[in-house]
Amino acid sequence: MLHADLHIHSKFSRACSRDRDIPHLAAGALRKGISVVGTGDFTHPAWADELKNSLVPAEAGLLRLRPDLERDLLRRVPAACEQPVRFMLSVEISTIYRRGERTRKVHHLIYAPTFEAADRITGSLAKVGNLASDGTAILGLDSRDLLEITLQAGPGCYLVPAHIWTSWFAVLGSRSGFDAVADCYGDLAAEIFAVATGLSSDPRMNWMCSSLDGYQLVSNSDAHSPPMLGREATTFTTAMDFFSIAEALRAGDGLAGTIEFYPEEGKYHPDGHRKCGIRLEPEPTRERDGVCPACHKPLTVGVLHRVAELADRPDGYRPDGAADFNNLVPLAEIISEILSVGPKSKSVNAVIDRLVAAFGPELAILRDVPTAELARIGGSPLTEAITRLRRGEVIKDAGYDGEYGRIRLFNSGELNRSGALFDVPGQGSAARGSGPAGRRNGPAGRSQAGSVSGRGEDHASARAVSAPPAGSPEAATRRSPAEPAAGQAPCARPPPRRPHHPRYWPNWTRNSAPQHGPMAVSPARSIARSAGPRSIRLIPAAWTPGSGTRRWQCPT
Ligand SMILES: [Zn+2]
Ligand SMILES: [Zn+2]
Repeated sequence: MLHADLHIHSKFSRACSRDRDIPHLAAGALRKGISVVGTGDFTHPAWADELKNSLVPAEAGLLRLRPDLERDLLRRVPAACEQPVRFMLSVEISTIYRRGERTRKVHHLIYAPTFEAADRITGSLAKVGNLASDGTAILGLDSRDLLEITLQAGPGCYLVPAHIWTSWFAVLGSRSGFDAVADCYGDLAAEIFAVATGLSSDPRMNWMCSSLDGYQLVSNSDAHSPPMLGREATTFTTAMDFFSIAEALRAGDGLAGTIEFYPEEGKYHPDGHRKCGIRLEPEPTRERDGVCPACHKPLTVGVLHRVAELADRPDGYRPDGAADFNNLVPLAEIISEILSVGPKSKSVNAVIDRLVAAFGPELAILRDVPTAELARIGGSPLTEAITRLRRGEVIKDAGYDGEYGRIRLFNSGELNRSGALFDVPGQGSAARGSGPAGRRNGPAGRSQAGSVSGRGEDHASARAVSAPPAGSPEAATRRSPAEPAAGQAPCARPPPRRPHHPRYWPNWTRNSAPQHGPMAVSPARSIARSAGPRSIRLIPAAWTPGSGTRRWQCPT
């Protein structure tokens, strides 16, 4: 079984971190448990040069690190994460063009088995537009013609529509797409055999649309920075080579399924306006003719709404032979929640370093490692978090209009002390080299520092949504972030203050921590999970634990 993440971006794409070179990508893939990584951006001249310099042929159609780089790599990753890592030449192309009196904006993923084939695609596209300005080239080219260029580049080259539901840039997107994948690719539509579901939808949502039955569903991270690698992925049971993977996508045999975000964590799940702090389910959006109640401009229609428009089956329908999927939350976000610090903070990275050194890649930690084992390093909060994740017991705060959602494992009040993650007997010996981590001076050796407390770390993940101006029309219809949702008891007393002792964790159990009014319950429901008409309801913007101004203050 192998996990593949076939949509990532290089340092030459907009908003990408500078350390996205091939060795860093390979190291990130090993830590996540990804065996095959898309190179991304192969049409960018400078990135193509870097790929040709860093990679050499491996199994048919795949590439591996140059031997000297591979030796360096193995010195830098924990022994528990060692496995072959391969690269597949890939690029995302953004096409913007007019068809049928409408402007179409569609993103596509293109794959090639050799540098020669990739160069042919690059050569054809260079005649259409500038490929050097961005790793994701933006071209005035019809989707059908891009597919033709791909197919003509050589045997094996194939195209997969990217994140098909994204409002602004996708084949089925509400703003600039089509109502069927086949409409987009015209006479060549039969050459499309797989579609990428994107972060804001999972296979269950896609199964509601019979028009997608003919396509395999794949998932990729669309990562712009190394920690994001593998946050979504596709799992194969086929041989590790380009043509076997392509055949699995074409026929379904050898495609085991996908690893998914919770779709609510994606950036376009419900409808809304980020700058107005308005977030709506599909029904209230329809009631308002798609117009924002705050600024009276068109709302950004989310994936949930768009799926409902095109669905011809009830939620829960599963087509025969459909591959499985598994909703996960990135390990960094879980530890971030436990420590109450940002997911990119040093504390979180240090904990991940120790866990992967002891137990292997992150995907194995999230899915397979027995929770009793995890307790050895993670303590009871991590054990509980992973147990809940595997049961699907999560709290969802849906992302909208370009803003990521948030998935939590704990109710507010359950986690009342950061830093307790390591305050468990016996964890010290595990961290100091009794396991694989002790065999080398890799990240595991460095990870002990900073593992105690998250105090003073950044709060990069914290998101607050501003309330409408007092007295404005929308203020009357919209609950403030902290207002109780329907059916919730009002908050009668302030939540407990966080104790200052860095190792305080009072007999933590799942239900012993104080539950507290609206903050103890998810403000967002699993809104993709039931079919049929809904009552009109505004989704309150979320109160986020650790989000600065509202931190630990009773909202009422
Ligand atoms: Zn894209
Ligand atoms: Zn608005």
